[in-house]
Amino acid sequence: MKITILSRNANLYSTRRLIEAGQQKGHIVEVYNHLDCYVGLKQGKPTIHHKGTVITGVDAVIPRIGSSVTFYGTAIVRQFEMMKVFCANGSMAVTRSRDKLRSMQLLSRDGLGMPATVFAHNSNNINDLLDMVGGVPVVIKLLEGTQGIGVMLAETKKAAKAILEAFYGIEKNVLVQEYIAEAKGADIRAIVVGNEVVGAMKRQALEGEFRSNLHRGGTAKAIKLTRLEKETALKAAKSMGLNIAGVDLLQSERGPLVLEVNSSPGLEGIEKATGKDIAMKIIDFVELKAQSPKGAKDKVGA
Ligand code: ADP
Repeated sequence: MKITILSRNANLYSTRRLIEAGQQKGHIVEVYNHLDCYVGLKQGKPTIHHKGTVITGVDAVIPRIGSSVTFYGTAIVRQFEMMKVFCANGSMAVTRSRDKLRSMQLLSRDGLGMPATVFAHNSNNINDLLDMVGGVPVVIKLLEGTQGIGVMLAETKKAAKAILEAFYGIEKNVLVQEYIAEAKGADIRAIVVGNEVVGAMKRQALEGEFRSNLHRGGTAKAIKLTRLEKETALKAAKSMGLNIAGVDLLQSERGPLVLEVNSSPGLEGIEKATGKDIAMKIIDFVELKAQSPKGAKDKVGA
């Protein structure tokens, strides 16, 4: 099979591991920087080009689209879909999961456990906003933040009001969220591939920090998930329409709560923590889907 990985850098750990796993299974694996690809549109003939060459004969695409280039990256994925190439994650699903608000709206509709969350245009009804998430402390999240940047803990009503007024004043969109104190600065990252959770780790924040992102200095160790945690991770990925996902969960007194669903989960942290070959699980899945009649059905999307 010819597998194309869309990634800005072939030397990144996750990209390297996918190349290795694909080659190990005898596939031709090519990496294209999606920002160097361009789209050709003619009647009945969608094409995709890279540095002056037409890309052809691709059997499957594994998109690894960074959050800063979601619009362009998903346009390239969509073009492959138009050419009926199987994409491990569809362009719509990537777009959906990238938007924190849209994701929370879908997760809420689909009955997933989540921290109570509100979204407002101004702080005129601050008392109600805070009441709706169970009062202070609250977590305030910039909608466009990633890797824990733009996630703040407001411990008092005064602090929450000041932060919200500042963000609304500069027209930034924020979520106000119930603070899950019993998570104790830890969260779970579960990697979903198809209908399976293929690995999970618990990340613990540094002392004095509530954000457990590895980019914020958190540490990770492998964890065995409960049945409910597994089911929640699978349901959350499904809710986004993602085949491959990194689902972030908080452990709370009322069960697992979904924080976020990532469409290009990093492989380094999870492979090192669990000792598992997650890249191979992704390649196995892609092989199965790209070659099956069911996979062919999935090829058509927009
Ligand atoms: P990002 O997308 O920037 O990583 P997250 O929403 O995942 O933002 O938040 C970053 C980290 O902050 C999480 O991994 C978690 O450890 C902590 N956190 C986020 N929301 C809450 C919450 N409502 N209650 C407790 N901790 C939280």
